[in-house]
Amino acid sequence: QTTRKKIIIGNWKMFKDVTSASADFSNFSNLIANQNLNIEVGIAAPSVFLSELSGRTQNVVTLFAQNAHWANDGAFTGEISVPMLKSIRVKGSLVAHSERRQMFGETNISSGARVGALIRSGMKAVLCIGETLEQREKGKLHEVLTTQLEEAFIASEIKSASEFLGSDPKNPLLSIAYEPVWAIGTGKAATSVEAQEAHSIIREFLSSYFDKETSSKLQILYGGSVKLNNVQEYMSCPDIDGALVGGASLNPKDFYDLCMKCN
Ligand code: PEP
Repeated sequence: QTTRKKIIIGNWKMFKDVTSASADFSNFSNLIANQNLNIEVGIAAPSVFLSELSGRTQNVVTLFAQNAHWANDGAFTGEISVPMLKSIRVKGSLVAHSERRQMFGETNISSGARVGALIRSGMKAVLCIGETLEQREKGKLHEVLTTQLEEAFIASEIKSASEFLGSDPKNPLLSIAYEPVWAIGTGKAATSVEAQEAHSIIREFLSSYFDKETSSKLQILYGGSVKLNNVQEYMSCPDIDGALVGGASLNPKDFYDLCMKCN
């Protein structure tokens, strides 16, 4: 576990305008730039702001998109490609956030295609998975998580574990975000025991799909009502390597305080 760097990513969803996004991002970068960081911090911003924000990272905040198409270009009105993101120095993207699965028809197969495109371009793919309350109550946690992962990995058409890891051992290209659907934006966070249980299912699956060594290098983030007062408890769990933070990432000072709790 000691080899995995902790990573905290804020998800700004569909909030802010260009003025507040720029000011908040700069404030956050300034606060972070004054620290000696052991962790990685990132923000996944609405695509329309990414070009502006990429000049404000001070090389201390990793800029993520919230989605990326699998094709390099083509007749896909309204979509944004990986080369487009790369051209404005975005470093990676969320993939298949539960809001996209629930409201915009994202599937395990389409999410896998997005993961493949990102990784082939050397960008980080944060693949979001998680069960609904109904699935959890029916005892389907294990089945749901492993199916989401397996179908996406196959659809990514990436064949080797080393490609998923990429060339920088400190920053593997593939990360998994475990986000139980019932905990996102609800204030009803999973307990650290529930989160660790799911993360260990994911870690075991990664071991069996790839190999133990690869699994031990991949970061698994928890997301779902992570706040200042619960983040440390998650981070102390053996298989939790970071957090994907929605509501609590919108205010730069509050998000900075949350990140510092993990440093
Ligand atoms: C998210 O957006 O991924 C998320 C986990 O939201 P929140 O922290 O608001 O629950």
